[in-house]
Amino acid sequence: MTELNQQTIYDDNNIFAKMLNGDIPYHKVYEDDKTLAFMDIMPQAEGHVLVIPKQKAVDLADLEPEYAAAVLMTSKKVMQAQRQVFEREGIIQMQLNGAQAGQTVFHYHVHLIPSSIHELGRHAAAMADQEKLAAIASQLATVIDAE
Ligand code: 5GP
Repeated sequence: MTELNQQTIYDDNNIFAKMLNGDIPYHKVYEDDKTLAFMDIMPQAEGHVLVIPKQKAVDLADLEPEYAAAVLMTSKKVMQAQRQVFEREGIIQMQLNGAQAGQTVFHYHVHLIPSSIHELGRHAAAMADQEKLAAIASQLATVIDAE
């Protein structure tokens, strides 16, 4: 069996935990008491958003039902806003469990990507322009706030 980089214990210093603690900046799209949505810094398509629970969950195995429901409802809000802002129906909802699947940040998160499975860019490969991310976050937030 090949050796796996298994991470099953939650690391309080992971990058998304630092965001939730307010220790590092991000471009916020939406927040409520159980979830946070923000722009992916290395998007696989323009408008790539991540939704995280405010729960210390490494992956789906750890996710508590109330946070699972909250992440799904926030994902729905974000997806509807992406449809409006990018004027496209097709939005990929993706979520990786474990390093073997390609997971790189070990705080559970859902990817929402305005793209097609046949056109998806490389995962976590190229940094986006920060001003562009800020502008898209603001557009999405405005649509969500208006709902
Ligand atoms: P995973 O590989 O765990 O499914 O996805 C992690 C995602 O987090 C990747 O798409 C990657 O681009 C994104 N990411 C990694 N570091 C940061 C960061 O510091 N800020 C933001 N906003 N996204 C990040």
